[in-house]
Formats: sequence, C-alpha cells, structure tokens
Amino acid sequence: MQLDLAQITHQMLDGVNYGNYINGEFRAAANGKVFDVTNPATGDLLLSVPDAGASDTLAAVDAAYAALPAWMATPAATRADLLRKAAALMLERRERLATIMTLEQGKPMTESRGEIAYAASFLTWFAGEAERIYGDIVHNSAPNKRIFVLRQAVGVVALITPWNFPAAMLTRKLGPALAAGCTAICKPAEQTPLTALELGRIFQEVGFPAGVVNILAASDPLPFSDTIFADDRVRKVSFTGSTEVGKILIRNSAATVKRMSLELGGNAPFIVFDDADLSAAVTGAIASKFRNAGQTCVCANRIFVQRGIYDQFADLFAAKTSAMKVGNGLLPDTIIGPLIDLPAREKIERHVSDAKAHGADIMLGGLPYPENPSGTFWTPTVIRNASSDMLVAQEETFGPVAPLIPFDTEDEVLAQANGTPFGLASYFYTRDVSRVMRVAEKLEFGIIGANDALPSVAQAPFGGVKQSGLGREGGAVGIDEYLEVKYLSLGL
Ligand code: NAP
Repeated sequence: MQLDLAQITHQMLDGVNYGNYINGEFRAAANGKVFDVTNPATGDLLLSVPDAGASDTLAAVDAAYAALPAWMATPAATRADLLRKAAALMLERRERLATIMTLEQGKPMTESRGEIAYAASFLTWFAGEAERIYGDIVHNSAPNKRIFVLRQAVGVVALITPWNFPAAMLTRKLGPALAAGCTAICKPAEQTPLTALELGRIFQEVGFPAGVVNILAASDPLPFSDTIFADDRVRKVSFTGSTEVGKILIRNSAATVKRMSLELGGNAPFIVFDDADLSAAVTGAIASKFRNAGQTCVCANRIFVQRGIYDQFADLFAAKTSAMKVGNGLLPDTIIGPLIDLPAREKIERHVSDAKAHGADIMLGGLPYPENPSGTFWTPTVIRNASSDMLVAQEETFGPVAPLIPFDTEDEVLAQANGTPFGLASYFYTRDVSRVMRVAEKLEFGIIGANDALPSVAQAPFGGVKQSGLGREGGAVGIDEYLEVKYLSLGL
C-alpha cells in the first residue's frame, strides 16, 4: 500500500503552533528560543517548539502553586469527571494523537494507537480512584481521645518523562496526581514534546482550571530541573527515565527534601522452561522483545531457554523474527520502526560486536537495516549461544536484538536472572503450577509475567525494585504516591 508520508505530516502539523502550556495558555518561551523536533524515521524536521528555560519553569511553578488551593478543594467527583472527559477526548482524537506520536517517536501506528488507549486508561482508572480516597478513624490508647487519619494531596508536583512512551508515561503520572488534588508541571523528553503538547490542548479543552496542568518542552533539562528542585513549593518529583539520571535526581532532591517516585531502567529476563508451551513462549518473547523496536523498559533483554528446547525455540524464534517488516511506522505493515537516534544505534553496534567477539553466533541480522534513510533502522537480530557475561546481557540494549542464552537448571537460571542491579520486569513460561509460585517468589523484580509477555495495565501496580526505581504507578496504590498521610488527634 502506497501512502504519501509527507502529506500525512502536513495534514497533522501544518498551521499547528505549539507553545508551552502554562497557566491555561500556550506561550512562546520567555527568551523567544525554539528547538527542532525531527522524525527519527527520516531525519526530517517536523516542527519547532518553544524551548522552556528557568523563567518559564518558574512561571509554571507560580501558576501551579496559585491553582493548588482551589484544585485541592474541588470535589473529587468533579476532578474525576474532568479526567474522564480528557480520556474520552483522547480516544476521540486517537488517530491524530497516534499519528503525531509515530511521526516524532517512530513506533508503528498499531502500537501508537494502542499506547493512546493505554494512556487514556490511566485517566479513567484514576478518575475512579479519586472518588475512593479514604481516611481512618483509629482508637487511641487514651480513652478520651480519637485519632483521625487524613490523606491529602501532596501539593505541586513535577513530572519528567522519557521519549519511548510519549503519552502513557505522562498520563500514568498525571492521572493519579490530578485525581489526588495535586497540580502539576510536566516536562516531556526533548525528542517527543509534540504528543505531550497535544495532550495539553485536551486538558485545556475539557476545562481543567488554569495552572492545574502545565507542560513545558525544553531542549536542555537542566534549567527546568534546577528550578523545580530549588523551589520549596514543588513538593514531589516523579521521574521516568534512565537509572543514571534517576540517581542524579535523588541527590538533587536532598536540598529541599522532596518526595520522589522513580521508574528507571530494567534488564528483563525472559525464561523459557522445557515444559513451556513452545509456540506461546515464542509468540510472547517476540511481543516482549520487539515492541517499539526493543525500546521499552520492560522489554525482554535476556532470553534464557532451557537446553532441552533450545534449538527448537531458536529456530522458531528466528523464523518468526525474519518475517517482521522493518520500515516507517506510518506504513500499515510495519512491525519494527526506527531507533530514536544514532547514539541508540551505536549502543546496539557495541553490544552486537561484543557478543560476536565473545563467541556468540549471529543467527539473524546483526547489521543496520539496508534501506536506511536516517541511519536509525536496525535489522531485527537473533544471537545464539549468548551468555550472561556479554554486554548484551549486562546492559539494557534498547533495540531489536534478542540474545538467546541456554541454561540447565531452575536454580542456575534464577541466579543469572537475579544477577543484575535492576529489578523492573521479568517473564517466564512453564506449565508447572508449583514452579509458577516457586519462581515468582524468587524473582527479584517488581513485575512478573508468568505465561504473559504483556502484563502492563492501569489496574496493576507497575514499578521496579533494586536500581529500577522507587514507588509504584497504576493500581490501587498508584494514587498513594501523590497523597500525604496526616492525623488529627481529637480530645473528647
Ligand atoms: P533519560 O535520558 O533519563 O531522560 C528521561 C527524561 O529525563 C527526559 O525528559 C530528559 O530530558 C530528562 N533528563 C535527562 N537528564 C536530566 C537531568 N540531569 N535532570 C533532569 N531531567 C533530566 O532517559 P531516556 O533515554 O529518555 O529514556 C530511556 C530510559 O528510560 C531507559 O533506561 C528506560 O528503561 C527508562 N524507562 C523506564 C520506564 C519505567 O517505567 N521504569 C519507562 C520508560 C522508560 P531530555 O530529553 O531533554 O534529555
């Protein structure tokens, strides 16, 4: 099917003039600066957006702080109603939002459409949770006193998000923050601000009061970050991104003792035991490994396969992988889009050559994709006889590269799976129910998919252990990240 890709870009972005969304209006940067957003599939310029600096960030903090008392006092049912309206408008505009996401991020349209629905589901879910913020009345050991436990909004929060899920990472934070009664200042990643600013329009259109949601695009995160961390009025920072930056932010938070939620990097093991349903395991491994061209924090990064089915698994996995179509995410048959940028490709090249140098076999791919206008396409790669000491298993590859590591025993694979400083997602396939419980209890990861390669939903408490983060997003506990617990002791 032939599509006029340039025409699609014009249709989406011609005449669009995004500003930073501050205090209910879209504004140019105070210093007039802009920066370019480009399409990772072509390298073409999509649009220039205002480049927020320290004074824009301060204006957003002022707006969020001014809006806070009224928003906290707004009935939960009204906050919930606005969240549901925003979710409904996102779904109504799903095609436009998905197209803009594919243009700036590269992922295939089917994934972008899926992400918009997933992103909207956080607003709907937390609309429900807004109406279920309970307190407690507790007996006191003194008979003439009672304790009332109150849960109230933390206050102004700053939300920093990465490029790989431009909509869902934002709503997974904004949903609970707004539901709890917090006001927010958001900073999307430099590569993908357009989806976030489109969401700003939606929050504006459905009637969130001025200052409740603020969204700032910036080419340099530091003026934003330095401003929010120095400001006592910002009571919490929620960050999704790399562990390296997360550690910097933990240090920054000390100055004004801010609450922190951190969703950081992973190094997910995907374990296939001899007794697994082979076809389901291959399908699951492919879905987990290659979503968003392997650029997700929960991607299978190390695929462990028990020796008895290793050859069968490898052949089937490689055959299915070779059939995946690489191309521009706007084309309907594309399964693997581009990498976000050239440094991402350099990391993959480093990992693949390290694996080769250490004796692994490249079954498939191992090279940049030949039809490669922007240099960012990588041929889906399967590496046979990989091992846990190779770079590809030590670090997040963040690309369409699948190392298949053989193992013999359950104990051996658990030691290897847990032998990482990261603890976000993990997966295993088996038909043995006892093993399901045994292995789940021993895996040191916040998310475990047993015979399930795509476990993320708004109702589940997403998050990592060890160096993969602090706190949970989603689920019934997700709103707690945005609530302070206070108590009142009442003398009778
Ligand atoms: P990143 O470099 O850490 O950037 C994430 C965000 O932080 C961006 O908005 C970035 O702004 C900003 N940032 C960078 N340096 C900063 C600093 N010194 N102070 C304040 N903000 C700063 O991560 P990424 O490369 O965009 O995303 C990939 C990483 O995110 C991977 O490790 C992945 O595993 C992780 N991730 C985790 C989850 C999860 O839920 N656990 C979900 C998705 C992704 P700029 O864009 O302007 O640099």
